[in-house]
Amino acid sequence: MKAEIISIGTELLLGEITDTNSAYLAGQLPLLGLDIHFMSTVGDNQHRLVDTLRQAWQRSDIIIATGGLGPTQDDITREAIAELLNEEITIDPALVKKFQELFSYYKIEMPPSNIRQAGVIPSAQIIPNPRGTAPGWWIERGERIIVTMPGPPREMQLMWTQEVLPRLQQRTEGTVILSKTLKIFDLTEAKVDELVSPFLSATNPTLATYAKADGIHLRITAKARLASEAQQLINQREADIRAILDDNIWGVDSESLESIVGALFMAKGLTLATMESSTGGLLANVITNVSGSSKYFRGGLVTYADEAKAAFGLDAQLISQYGAVSAEAAEAMATVARDKLGTAIGVGLTGVTGPIEIEGKPVGTIFVGIDDGQRKKSLAKNYPGNRLQVKQRAVTSALFELRRILL
Ligand code: ATP
Repeated sequence: MKAEIISIGTELLLGEITDTNSAYLAGQLPLLGLDIHFMSTVGDNQHRLVDTLRQAWQRSDIIIATGGLGPTQDDITREAIAELLNEEITIDPALVKKFQELFSYYKIEMPPSNIRQAGVIPSAQIIPNPRGTAPGWWIERGERIIVTMPGPPREMQLMWTQEVLPRLQQRTEGTVILSKTLKIFDLTEAKVDELVSPFLSATNPTLATYAKADGIHLRITAKARLASEAQQLINQREADIRAILDDNIWGVDSESLESIVGALFMAKGLTLATMESSTGGLLANVITNVSGSSKYFRGGLVTYADEAKAAFGLDAQLISQYGAVSAEAAEAMATVARDKLGTAIGVGLTGVTGPIEIEGKPVGTIFVGIDDGQRKKSLAKNYPGNRLQVKQRAVTSALFELRRILL
C-alpha cells in the first residue's frame, strides 16, 4: 500500500518550525510495510490544502495529515477534508460536553472558538487525543484511508502509538519493511557505490548510500511477509557487503564511532589522552559524549599556539624543523599527551582548517599521530569542506585510526 504524509501549517513553510512530525511518521510507516511515495508541506490555505489532498487522494492508499486541527480560523484541515469528500461538518454534542468538562476541571471558561474542534463529518470516526482538545479523524472510503492528527508532536505521537498504529496494523498485516545501516569510513561515496554496484539494482533488499559527517552510511532495506524473512534478506545482503567492505565498516544503525572506540578501550583496560591543535578540543569533546568515558579517557590538552605546544613539552626544535602541521608534530604530540597524562595511548591531532593554508600545506590537511608506548604511527589526510567539516572529519579519522589500532 502506498502512503503519503501531509504536514499542514504556514509556520512550517516560513521555516519557523521544523517538520519533525513527517520525519517521525516516515520512520514509523515502513515498519508497517507501507511505502511512502510523497511527503508534502502546505500552509494554512484551504484552497491549496484541498488541492494537495485531492492529488494525494488520487495517487495514495493512505494519507496521514498532521496539523491544522486547532480552534482558530486558520486551522482549516477539517474544512478542507469536508470539501474534498463533499461532506458537511456538524458539531458533535458529545465532544462539546467533553471539552466543557475538561475546561471546567481546569477552572477555565471554554472559549467559544473551541466548539470548532467538535466539528465532524459523517464518514469520520473521532480519534481521542489524551493530551489536548484537538481530536483526530479516521476516515475510510472504499479502499482509501485518511488520518488526521494534531500538530503538536507530543499529542501526535501519543495518538499515533495508542490509536492510529494499532488500527493500521490490522489493515497492513502481511508486510514488514526492515532496514539496517552499515557505517563506513575512509572511502568516498562514489567508491562505496562502485564497490557495491552488483547489488544496487536489486529491488529486495534495496541499497542506498548517504554521505554523513562520520562517513558513508549504506542502508539495506528489505520487505517481506514476516519480520524474520525480512531479517534474513538483510543478513544475507549484509554478509555480501561485508565480504567487500568489512575493513571499512566501523558500526551499524545508531552506533557512534566514539562509543565503539570507548567499548574497545574498556574491553582492553587501556587509557587514552589527547593533544589537539587545529581541532580545538573537539576530539576530547566527542570522546566524552560517551557515558562512562572517564574509565578510559584521562584528558586532553588543547594547544593551539606553538608556544602552548612548547609549554607542554613539545620540542620547539621539531616544530621549526618540520612545522606544527606535520606527521612528526602529530606523533610528538601523541607522545606528550601520553607522557603528561600517564596513559597507555596518546593521540596528537594537527591540521589546517582554513580558509588559508599554513606552512605551505593546503586547507583540509590533517595529521593524526598515535603513540601506544611501543610504536608511533601517523596518518595524513586531506578533506574538503569548511572549518567545522574539516575538524569533524579530522576527529572521525582519529577515532577510526584508534579503532584500527585497538582491533
Ligand atoms: P492545536 O490544537 O495545538 O492548535 P493543531 O493541530 O492546530 O493543534 P497546529 O496549530 O498546526 O496544530 O500546530 C501547533 C503547533 O504544533 C505548532 O506551533 C508546532 O509547534 C507544532 N507542529 C505543528 N506541525 C508540526 C510538524 N509538522 N512538526 C513539528 N511540529 C509541529
